[in-house]
Amino acid sequence: MSTRKIVVLPGDGIGPEIIAQASRVLDEINTTHQLNLTTQTCLFGGAAYDTTGTPLPDDTLAACRDADAILLGAIGGPQYDAAPRELRPERGLLGIRSELKLFANLRPAMLYPELASASSLKSELVAGLDLMIVRELTGGIYFGQPRGIEERDGERVGFNTMVYKESEIRRIAIRAFEIARQRGSRLCSVDKANVLEVSELWREIVIDVSKDYSDVELTHLYVDNAAMQLIKAPKQFDVMVTSNLFGDVLSDAAAMLTGSIGMLPSASLDKDGKGMYEPIHGSAPDIAGQNVANPLATILSVAMMLRYTLNEPVAASDIESAVSAVIREGYRCADIATGATSERTVNTTEMGDAVMAALNKGEQ
Ligand code: NAD
Repeated sequence: MSTRKIVVLPGDGIGPEIIAQASRVLDEINTTHQLNLTTQTCLFGGAAYDTTGTPLPDDTLAACRDADAILLGAIGGPQYDAAPRELRPERGLLGIRSELKLFANLRPAMLYPELASASSLKSELVAGLDLMIVRELTGGIYFGQPRGIEERDGERVGFNTMVYKESEIRRIAIRAFEIARQRGSRLCSVDKANVLEVSELWREIVIDVSKDYSDVELTHLYVDNAAMQLIKAPKQFDVMVTSNLFGDVLSDAAAMLTGSIGMLPSASLDKDGKGMYEPIHGSAPDIAGQNVANPLATILSVAMMLRYTLNEPVAASDIESAVSAVIREGYRCADIATGATSERTVNTTEMGDAVMAALNKGEQ
């Protein structure tokens, strides 16, 4: 099998701590499954700014371009607030996303039954939740022209344009149908076709794409109803696909249903499935350097990378099973600990140790 390249970007704050544990898991799974992966660690974000004067150095971008997949910890921190806007760590993130044309954002919301009490919803509504939101990331109202604030008839007017090309809708729809196929084969497309022409086109194209995926059940919801359904009965969903703006709001709402930010991975993919994988949380400067951050979102990002870019579903399942096992066995980092006597509160390294032990035992 040919070698596949992974670029690892630890970043800032808790980034290096959580990446250290995810890298142990990646190395282990690479060996046990003979995946032939090579890894290269590069400077990115504030760490790169401190050393090179820019958050996205040319050699980091070149390595990312050349890689099959990228594993990111997190970037940012208050020490960079005073830096010029174009040199802040977040600019590096936007730069990578646009340079690599990562248009499909995958945001799973999963809740292990044992963690159901962390949710703001009743346990029975969310225990075992496992849904995936596929959000269009590089088009729509966040990028549409014209945009601006101008004087009209003696007062200021703000305006943006929600615009989607047929090709942009088609490629995100194809990606979402492919993902639904790898999961429960149910896809819900979210739009506002009763009011917006851009949504009318969205729905038309999604229905057209569905003709190539007769094995996937397609449904449609208006975004206001989708928001209600997410709160009322979130377990009804398998995969949801939606535009940039609607996805921004719905994916945060879905993540918060789980109540555990340190548990959720994410991915951003290009048209060929190359992707950047990262936890949904930031660099958590308030706990950085203390070895207490939960590394599970980053470890689960490795599992997503194996499933969605490297086409190694068995290796991905092994990691997911090991994480389920450590949760079942009661291991908790501080962010998900409740103080119950059945729990063992552990630090970042100890959580990594627990996942490694579960992997080695082949726990399901
Ligand atoms: P944050 O996600 O970093 O932290 C929010 C809260 O969640 C904090 O209390 C933090 O301690 C906690 N938390 C986050 N991850 C955790 C983990 N793995 N284990 C335990 N607790 C965890 O969000 P913020 O505080 O708003 O942002 C901090 C910095 O991160 C900012 O500079 C922001 O720009 C940046 N940021 C980066 C990314 C990214 O790298 N993709 C995403 C969001 C925010």
